[in-house]
Amino acid sequence: MDINYLISEDKILRSPWISTDIPKISLTEFLTLALEKYGDKPLVVSHDKSRSYTAQDVLLSSRRFASALIRRGLKLGDVFCICTANNVDYAAAALGAMNAGAIITLGKPMDKAEELRFRLEQTNSVYLLVEKKNLDKAKEATKYLPNFQEILVFEKSEDCPSFLELVEEDDGSAFTGSPAIDPKETPLLLTFSSGTTGLPKAIVHTHYTFLSAVIIATHPSVWKISQDDIVLGMYPFCHVAGFLFLIITLSEGVTLSVVPSYESDLFLEVIEKHKVSVVPVAVSIVYRLLRNPNVHQYNLTSVKEILTGGAPLNQESNEEVVMKAFPFLRSFRQCYGLSEILSVASVEKGNITPNSVGKLTPSTELKVVDLATGVALGPNEGGEFYVRGLQMMKGYLDNPKATAEVFTEDGWFKTGDFGHYDSEGNLYITDRLKEMIKSGFHQVSPTEIESVLCSHQVIEDAAVVGIPDSTLGEVPYGFVVIRPDSHVTPENILRFISARLAPQKQLKGLEFIDKIPRSQFGKIERKYLKDHVVQKLKK
Ligand code: AMP
Repeated sequence: MDINYLISEDKILRSPWISTDIPKISLTEFLTLALEKYGDKPLVVSHDKSRSYTAQDVLLSSRRFASALIRRGLKLGDVFCICTANNVDYAAAALGAMNAGAIITLGKPMDKAEELRFRLEQTNSVYLLVEKKNLDKAKEATKYLPNFQEILVFEKSEDCPSFLELVEEDDGSAFTGSPAIDPKETPLLLTFSSGTTGLPKAIVHTHYTFLSAVIIATHPSVWKISQDDIVLGMYPFCHVAGFLFLIITLSEGVTLSVVPSYESDLFLEVIEKHKVSVVPVAVSIVYRLLRNPNVHQYNLTSVKEILTGGAPLNQESNEEVVMKAFPFLRSFRQCYGLSEILSVASVEKGNITPNSVGKLTPSTELKVVDLATGVALGPNEGGEFYVRGLQMMKGYLDNPKATAEVFTEDGWFKTGDFGHYDSEGNLYITDRLKEMIKSGFHQVSPTEIESVLCSHQVIEDAAVVGIPDSTLGEVPYGFVVIRPDSHVTPENILRFISARLAPQKQLKGLEFIDKIPRSQFGKIERKYLKDHVVQKLKK
């Protein structure tokens, strides 16, 4: 295929799919119009099927919740934080707060009180909705926050207002329709950057950028959703990608089966019981699907498609391996994105190309920029990905300096991801620049060493971090999970690496561990591993 039609003279790669028009309405109006079409179709179902919301229920509950919040004093533009594991009420609560005119922010339920406090403070949150079991943490986190007004819980409660009770008791009359706003200017969602280079920054998405992401992600070239599909609601709603999936299922009228727990095998039970057909999950769940012996105890044959993204997939778990392991699958695809671009920059579609993160989504543009010269490169040349698109954030909240640092003057967002595209426009990410280990004058890629480690037959998973070194600044240090009953020593593995990689990529040390710590979103917790080694070396 000739790719030239996709590349302009100044080496800008464009999506092979047509551009999209975005209606000039708020996300709340858009969702209301969509939900009105689906009537009594169940859209959100709890894992055990004990509770569910039809489209009508979502509309009614969200209007009542909006009304109750308005009565409690919520004003247009107040920030409303939802901090919970995935649950069946999340959609109605979020839409209710948005209907009342709030800006939503997503708290992570596993955060400690201090971390939650940081997010609430950064976003100037006024309301916080949590599960009852996290009430003490919420109280601790909101102590002394100057503008904070009220904690609410989902369940019925004697201690504080409850979502379920407010929805039951309010007649909805204080809500008189979605507020009139300018969709391009009005913030809708505050989410957080991954914070790999310092503290996480709050990202501002407007109604327009969010709606753009919904329309791009549901373009038939990206995701052809069928009305019979049942989608697994396991990707955490507190991550922008999970929240986007939640909103997409509402707007497309497909059923979402909510999985509240991330750690257990509950999702396998849910797939079997609900006959789930579409499974969007983080890469760590793909690894669990491939390596967990319990998987074969469940009937998963209803699954047509698995979508993954958020972190690099190791070679041993690529598209071919997954399709072979689950022969009933019609597709296994990777998507690529960042919180700043609402997770939809590229997706694999059509001819799947192993290890690629696919082609640009409609209306999205990309440049691969040479690190030394800043010049845009052509096919198969490696550099930093710069991206532009309708779904791009407005900026970092109250932080013009940080915003200016990540954008070029002509509006390109510097992703910090390193890679290339091939002659068919498929993108490949080979590194994350911010995670590069600076050893002497070398830039050492942890991902490269990890993939060599994972090619060893007894290694199941691996992580490499840079640790301080008095002469070289930093040196690589490895962690591996080895298969049970294998008899290798760290020295065997170090020899394996030394036979395959250059001197600057040799590991200063190697530890066997039970599990590589990964975030819920599949990203290796490098900071945790680094701190562990630094503490160990101090002893
Ligand atoms: P976040 O903002 O938390 O979604 O993280 C975005 C980062 O995750 C990107 O800059 C990439 O480094 C990484 N990422 C996302 N999707 C992929 C993918 N499919 N393959 C490799 N890395 C990815």
